[in-house]
Amino acid sequence: MAAISSTAELIGKTQLLEESFRRNEQLAKRIVDIIHLRFSEVRRVLGMDRLKIMDFCGTHEWTIVHFGLRSLMPEGLELVAGPGCPVCVTPSRYIEEAIRLALDGVRVYTYGDTFKLRTINDVKGVYSLEEARTIGGDVKMVTGLLDAIRDARRHGRDSVFLGIGFETVAPGYAQAVLSGHVPGNLKLMSLVKLTPPAMFHALDVLREKPPEPPVMGVIAPGHVSTITGAKAWEPVAENYSIPVVVSGFEPIDVLASIAEVLRQLVAREAGVRIEYTRAVSWDGDLKAQAMIHKAFYAVDDAWRGIGFLPLSGLRLRDSFSDIDAFKQFGVQELKPEDWRKDTPPGCRCAEVTLGKAKPTDCPMFLKKCTPEKPYGPCMVSLEGTCAVWARFGGGGVADEIARELGLK
Ligand code: SF4
Repeated sequence: MAAISSTAELIGKTQLLEESFRRNEQLAKRIVDIIHLRFSEVRRVLGMDRLKIMDFCGTHEWTIVHFGLRSLMPEGLELVAGPGCPVCVTPSRYIEEAIRLALDGVRVYTYGDTFKLRTINDVKGVYSLEEARTIGGDVKMVTGLLDAIRDARRHGRDSVFLGIGFETVAPGYAQAVLSGHVPGNLKLMSLVKLTPPAMFHALDVLREKPPEPPVMGVIAPGHVSTITGAKAWEPVAENYSIPVVVSGFEPIDVLASIAEVLRQLVAREAGVRIEYTRAVSWDGDLKAQAMIHKAFYAVDDAWRGIGFLPLSGLRLRDSFSDIDAFKQFGVQELKPEDWRKDTPPGCRCAEVTLGKAKPTDCPMFLKKCTPEKPYGPCMVSLEGTCAVWARFGGGGVADEIARELGLK
């Protein structure tokens, strides 16, 4: 009875969430009006006709594209996607290492979206874990580390889990490691990336690009902030003097966050605000942060197509070297002096990831590169900007329709 009641409660809450944040057209229209009003104020107060707001997270980009939010923005206010897709930025080299292990008989556990990720160099003639499996490589898709642990215990042979993700996945990995739940035959290849250094880098790059309109605000990732807390973004507001709003993922959340960025600009403020108060606090999840710190340490890490960013990745501490795939399987760490641009020829994913180009700027978009047959890394994951634009349309066509409807 209790279970039924809590499920009903859950459904009730989900419906409330949908009605309040997803299907609330009236509220959406009011916020859009406020955005237009505030943008004209920004024009008057700051004397700027054009500016950009960066949405860092792949899920925010999904919301923006899926619900056509770009078409509701005033002329001159551009939303640009940032580096918020962990699969897109995982270096080719580590996938090549995983393919090598799979072909040597080590079972490789991977999330579904990494399965199709193409490498730059071939390993015994294959360029992805998917292709490795077709020639006998031992590759298995899992939903997460716990799933891999269950399977590894059952089959008992050497295996490796590709730990790809941002701060959100790290507490789960840390807990499994610290509690001793990882069986001896399973190793963790920690490829976890930390998001603040990527945001700093993207802002630096975009600021080097006049006469493009400047990035004047950031919509910071909600999921990541549940762990790190909103405080993680304070250096962005302080160092770049721009507003940062930690946002939820429903259309109302994103619209409200844009309105808040503009409010701050008009008031000449540059602070961190939390729109996603139903999940994010200023300090974040202190217990999760402590676990991450106990299991991992931060390293200068390579981001695909971008290069090394300081203290932007997590590796297992020496006390856990018995389950560290880098140490146990001799997986070679990339070094800054060895790093070469690792996006395929012609692919503009690195620029898309940094908000310097749109997917439609790439001549291969929806031609040589599609979600069914991705050529570049940004077309693979559901969070990749190219994949989102390819699935739901974005930029060009949506803008044209908005113009025809007199919305722009
Ligand atoms: S469309 Fe494909 S090839 Fe072009 S930038 Fe995106 S991922 Fe790269």
